[in-house]
Amino acid sequence: MGIIRRCLPRPMWNSAFAALRFVRRCVHFGFALYCPVCRARFRRLRSFGVSPRMNACCPICGSFERMRFAWVVLDARPELLGGPNPKILHVAPEQMLAARFNRIAGAEYIGADLEPSRAAVRMDVQRIQYPDDTFDFVYCSHVLEHVPDDRAAMREFHRVLKLGGTAMIMVPVNVKQTFEDPSVTDPAERLRLFGQDDHVRKYGPDVADRLRDAGFAVETVHTADIADEKTARRMGLKNESLFLCKK
Ligand SMILES: [Zn+2]
Repeated sequence: MGIIRRCLPRPMWNSAFAALRFVRRCVHFGFALYCPVCRARFRRLRSFGVSPRMNACCPICGSFERMRFAWVVLDARPELLGGPNPKILHVAPEQMLAARFNRIAGAEYIGADLEPSRAAVRMDVQRIQYPDDTFDFVYCSHVLEHVPDDRAAMREFHRVLKLGGTAMIMVPVNVKQTFEDPSVTDPAERLRLFGQDDHVRKYGPDVADRLRDAGFAVETVHTADIADEKTARRMGLKNESLFLCKK
């Protein structure tokens, strides 16, 4: 898909992509499920991964549970994005969310990633190159579990936020207590211990304490806070959680 995208002129790619989406919407159409990101109705979610996570991925736009959850939280709490003309830092940008942030009137948007090919700006979250009090909103999803010094990254998010700003942070929370061992560098051992060969820890709900240590007032939002059971099931949301971190 990436090669085709690079070879085709942009208008042609946009038309081809829109046509592909239309076909997907027809093929997968149904009333059981709904994706808040692409607003499609369909019969079933796709599984994802080698040892597949079942019912994870929207068959139309490819959104995962975490993005659909962030999407509905942003729908329910639009004030999180700040006032008029918000300045937004989006770490490891996901395409659909980047488009959403860029649609906000007057928004100044920066997408940044450690890998230069994945965003307009190269940035290490442990040493953010922007001055203090720069951003109204920071979005960082499923990044910190890859970062050797996640406490430094959290302090950096706090530093670059304006007073009253919000960092929306998501990490996989899948153990009771955060577990890490910096001496483990072998990818196979990381896979065994942390569940992925480029993860450096597993998080528990106590990640909220780390965020508080960085200076934030932290609110944990769960699926049940945003949607009733039936609605959550329709959107393919499970036991999602995210951290709203206020400066
Ligand atoms: Zn979708």
